[in-house]
Amino acid sequence: MSAIDRALINNAVHASGHPVQVLMAAPAQRLAVVTCIDARIPVPAMLGLEDGDAHILRNAGGVITEDVIRSLVISQRLLGTREIMLIHHTDCGMLSFRDDELKDQIERDTGIRPPFAMEAFTSLEDDVRRSIARLLASPFIPWKDGVRGFVYDIGTGKLSEVRG
Ligand code: ZN
Repeated sequence: MSAIDRALINNAVHASGHPVQVLMAAPAQRLAVVTCIDARIPVPAMLGLEDGDAHILRNAGGVITEDVIRSLVISQRLLGTREIMLIHHTDCGMLSFRDDELKDQIERDTGIRPPFAMEAFTSLEDDVRRSIARLLASPFIPWKDGVRGFVYDIGTGKLSEVRG
């Protein structure tokens, strides 16, 4: 059985016990979290977030891309979030390759060089600072006072704040 088929069976169980939806679309904690896709990061549990509390945006590395900015603009302007929590993590796959190497490989395999940045990085802290700088530099993010960055330790479950 595929993972999706198993997920569908689990969803039938979930839906059978699902209460009538009373949560508002606007996040109750007015918080947006940007983090990595890494399957070892238990975002709601590690932050004590319940359904309806926050927007959680994930991509490889938890980097600030144009598309993350797009979602944050909608999150802040239309759905009332005011704080942005950036979270990178130890043992991130983005530390394990270089953009050019991966692009070379892809170009060899497909004949096409990806036009987008892979956004690999060599320092978690430096990339958190770079991500914060991208947010602060964006003219489209209205609320920037509540932007903070962290590194999550996969081994201990602890967050450490990255200072400028
Ligand atoms: Zn990662």
